[in-house]
Amino acid sequence: MPAKASAQTDVLLIGGGAIGLLGAIKLAEAGLRVTVLDQGHIGQEASWAGGGILSPLYPWHYPPALLRLVLYSMQRYFSLTATLLEQTGIDPEWIPSGLLIMEGEQEKIPNDVLAWGRTWGLDWRLGLQEPQTLWCPEVAQVRNPRLLAAMAARCRQLGIVLHENTAVTGFRKQGEQLQGVETSTGFIPAEHAIVTAGAWSGKLLDETGTHLDIIPVRGQMLLLQGKLGAINTMLMRDNHYLVPRRDGLILAGSTSELAGFDKSTTDEARNELLDFATQVYPDLERVPILKQWSGLRPGSQDSIPYIGPVPGWEGLFVAAGHFRYGLTNAPATADILVSFLMKTPPPLDINPYAILTPRPAQ
Ligand SMILES: Cc1cc2nc3c(=O)[nH]c(=O)nc-3n(C[C@H](O)[C@H](O)[C@H](O)COP(=O)(O)OP(=O)(O)OC[C@H]3O[C@@H](n4cnc5c(N)ncnc54)[C@H](O)[C@@H]3O)c2cc1C
Repeated sequence: MPAKASAQTDVLLIGGGAIGLLGAIKLAEAGLRVTVLDQGHIGQEASWAGGGILSPLYPWHYPPALLRLVLYSMQRYFSLTATLLEQTGIDPEWIPSGLLIMEGEQEKIPNDVLAWGRTWGLDWRLGLQEPQTLWCPEVAQVRNPRLLAAMAARCRQLGIVLHENTAVTGFRKQGEQLQGVETSTGFIPAEHAIVTAGAWSGKLLDETGTHLDIIPVRGQMLLLQGKLGAINTMLMRDNHYLVPRRDGLILAGSTSELAGFDKSTTDEARNELLDFATQVYPDLERVPILKQWSGLRPGSQDSIPYIGPVPGWEGLFVAAGHFRYGLTNAPATADILVSFLMKTPPPLDINPYAILTPRPAQ
């Protein structure tokens, strides 16, 4: 049976991960009637699988276009999560636990890193002992599954319709104006729609004739049973990290693999993550592994997402390709989407995220 509520809808969000849900909330709070469609269950893909670190792993590797989104979003996360807790009773566990970066074989800490950090207003400290360490006190974390549960609850409070098991398969237009979307449950009319389909966005947008270089990049994670309070900060070395949760559980992440849309987990990744965890924190050798999982990051160049209108399709937008930092950058993305739909000035320079192929140098 076709999903019904669309007759009452101003905008469809295609994909209910962190990007789609926060976009939906902000658009509904701005006064629009919103429907979210998801091919599976709301909030169960990459946004659920991620580590919840609210920062790029090695910020100096990234261009200003990414860092501007990050800083804008970091400044809003405390208030976003505190408000969600107050509104829904679900605590996304925003914790300003800081991140300690340890110099590794592959990732060196640059000599001028403190000066570089200062240009972005970041108050970093270098450790004096060997191997060198960099302390980044402003980096916070969230507990992604709880953040998503809080967002979904807020959506329901706002009257946003959430349709699960409804895969969008194509788009219809008259002239250039979007008429609606084809789905696994039938045609849904809509004058505005936003593709927030994460790693699947490139494949879906091929239907419109716009081909974006968004590819699935698999990341595997381990959940370890740590001791309450044993580790209080996030630790990172050579692109691997430990994230201690408030209840003593510890996440060890992550791999970065090109495996198409295959979400299997592997023994190789388990050993890689466990080796890393026990090297940086030997006490973890004796703790049980509670779970291993994987998620598909929406891979893009330098983690710079596409946020903007789809050429040749009046009313159709994209917000996808956040790669490693979609949780981090959800607040900036949502505010940019509001500016497009409400025709208000954007909160920051949006040119770097425009749907252009090839992309301009950032
Ligand atoms: C292991 C791992 C660790 C990570 N760690 C971090 C981190 O520490 N910090 C950080 O900021 N980011 C992290 N990320 C990246 C972050 O998770 C992603 O960038 C972010 O989740 C992308 O959000 P999204 O909403 O675009 O995609 P998703 O959360 O994947 O949501 C997309 C949704 O679209 C739906 N969908 C797809 N196709 C269709 C269709 N045709 N019709 C309808 N629905 C559709 C899917 O079912 C899905 O629910 C990590 C990712 C992984 C995998």
